[in-house]
Amino acid sequence: MMKAARLHQVGAPMQIDAVEKPVASGQDVVVEVRACGMVPNLANVLANWETWYPQMPLPPRPAIFGLDPVGIVHQVGDKVMSVKPGDRVYVNPGRACGGCRFCTSGQPQKCDHWTLNGYFGYNQNSLRVFERYKQGGFCQYLEAPANALVKIPENVEFAQATRFGYLGTSYSALRKCGTLAGKTLIINGATGTLGVGAALFALAQGIGKIYAIARGKPLLERLKALDPARVEIFSNTEGSSGEWIKEQTQRLGADFMLDTLGAVADLSSMKDAMSGLRRGGRLVNIGGTAGDLPVDVKWWMDEQIELIGSVWFTVAEGYEMAGMFSSGAVDLNVLETQSWPLSDINSGINGAANGNGGFTSYLIEID
Ligand SMILES: [Zn+2]
Repeated sequence: MMKAARLHQVGAPMQIDAVEKPVASGQDVVVEVRACGMVPNLANVLANWETWYPQMPLPPRPAIFGLDPVGIVHQVGDKVMSVKPGDRVYVNPGRACGGCRFCTSGQPQKCDHWTLNGYFGYNQNSLRVFERYKQGGFCQYLEAPANALVKIPENVEFAQATRFGYLGTSYSALRKCGTLAGKTLIINGATGTLGVGAALFALAQGIGKIYAIARGKPLLERLKALDPARVEIFSNTEGSSGEWIKEQTQRLGADFMLDTLGAVADLSSMKDAMSGLRRGGRLVNIGGTAGDLPVDVKWWMDEQIELIGSVWFTVAEGYEMAGMFSSGAVDLNVLETQSWPLSDINSGINGAANGNGGFTSYLIEID
């Protein structure tokens, strides 16, 4: 048996239960969980989820949530070759069928079984996935496919590695922009969890200039301090961000934009920032915001704007990030962590998070 925090009912606190410990077989492994990253204010998100996104199922209750687990490989199935017991790993919660044309071409997010295990699914097929992989990261041991694991570099601590999911989401979006070296990038929501990660990877890949847009000045200043010559900051409480970008770029506009707005954000902020894109500009949307955005389709065509949606990241991209951490190209020490033990998980998920925007990572430590 093992300890697991389980949600028995949406809106109720999680309970620490004794549940059956998984056993590895075939291509699967069992990971001894050391820590698990957490969505800030998760309790509120879960309480509203089925109202906000009725098409996206949560796992059946009682459920073990936990999106970004890290730990040590405990046991491997008889067909596993890529990892061995003792390896330090991040478990990518992205699950898909593994056999369709998208899965086999490295695009599992396009699979019709795509699911974020330990959090939610994208359609009813996810219920089959939840049945096969019952544990998120808020427990002592979880079962996962071997091909979901990213080995954690020696210079990255477990607590830091719990940020892989958010970092990967930003990294994957930047890859969809294309070559970054010498180009210009708008980040809308720049001081949030996705925004800060995007800034770190864009700087590491030679971005020419980042136009960072957020509300509060103190965190924007902290973002600028990462690279004062290449990060320009703007508080959109002080005017139009699109107009500011045009001023900064001799009216040309910026090459790329990442939008990272969180749930229930005002979409007018996205629309405003979009107007700062140049001809041929590319926008990648990775935030959790929802709603209808009025877009001038003539502008879209005439200016040859590309609008891309991007969800999560692949294991391959996880390994690329690990290489950048290992080499020092991206220094995770600019981020801080705030953690709670599994026994006190309800404090953690109830919005106790009060760190420094995207500079703080929130996690549960599994004791
Ligand atoms: Zn598939």
